[in-house]
Amino acid sequence: MTARIIDGRATAASVRASVAEDVKQLSAQTGAVPGLATILVGEDPASAVYVGGKQRACAEVGMRPFDIRLPAEATHEQVAETIAGLNADPEVSGILLQLPVPGHLDGPSLTELIDPAKDVDGLTPVNVGLLSLGREGLRPCTPLGVMELLKVAGAEIEGSEAVVVGRSNLFGKPMAALLLASNATVTSCHSRTKDLASVCRRADILIAAAGRPRMLGAEHVKDGAVVIDVGMNRLTPEQAGNKSGLVGDVDFVAASEIASAITPVPGGVGPMTIAMLLGNTLAAAKMQLRAGVEAGA
Ligand code: NAP
Repeated sequence: MTARIIDGRATAASVRASVAEDVKQLSAQTGAVPGLATILVGEDPASAVYVGGKQRACAEVGMRPFDIRLPAEATHEQVAETIAGLNADPEVSGILLQLPVPGHLDGPSLTELIDPAKDVDGLTPVNVGLLSLGREGLRPCTPLGVMELLKVAGAEIEGSEAVVVGRSNLFGKPMAALLLASNATVTSCHSRTKDLASVCRRADILIAAAGRPRMLGAEHVKDGAVVIDVGMNRLTPEQAGNKSGLVGDVDFVAASEIASAITPVPGGVGPMTIAMLLGNTLAAAKMQLRAGVEAGA
């Protein structure tokens, strides 16, 4: 079997176009323009590139970007004060603290200060709890993007065996929770999993997020499986065999011979994260408008 390529760039473009259309309608009907605030502490070049991409994408769909930059030596109190100001600002629908923060700060405890109604990364304990309880809330963007790609690929999630390699709070755990909520039978793998290959070979849906270049090969893939590669590992272009120097956690060539559909790296999951962030910001703006109406504001 030669796998069909699941095109993340095209899917992300169609999500963005639909968000842009919804933003236009929302603004016409209510006068409200959703706003996304990103907070970058310090000058880490990779983080600055990510934040720049989010800001540009936000403006492109007609939302208002708020680009907050704090010096690398900002204290916990200064970042906390910035978050409190954004929590209280009615023009800001979504807040994202770019991780990682400099070493003297505690990213998770700062993230917890974000109002759960504006937590467009879905990482506050309230939103993590709502996901776990199967209740409405804001979900983390990358796992949400994977769910969208599975939909586009026509993957049958209900009743399927899904295996997620990686159990991080940022990706692996919420991914497993979203698949479970869609009635898959889910197995979470990690660095202590025994005989990873035989566990992975059970998967109708195999999701790789270990951060290990090309760790999963042909022996990990069941015939006809849908393979989603979340890994983003930077090698030299020569080592990687592609222009960007980026490779995933899956040996794409070997897995493509066995899977029915597969995401490439780059051009698979990567573009989905920002698209879903925009979707979450729009959803947050709508929830805040509804809450305002219900409160008689
Ligand atoms: P992480 O926090 O480092 O977690 C890695 C997970 O993989 C851990 O649960 C670890 O197990 C597991 N693992 C490591 N080596 C393993 C092995 N040999 N066998 C089985 N499991 C193993 O990483 P993350 O933040 O989840 O990210 C994972 C990858 O996805 C990275 O390449 C990252 O760049 C990428 N990513 C991409 C996007 C995007 O495309 N937008 C977004 C998020 C992440 P333990 O828990 O036992 O240590």
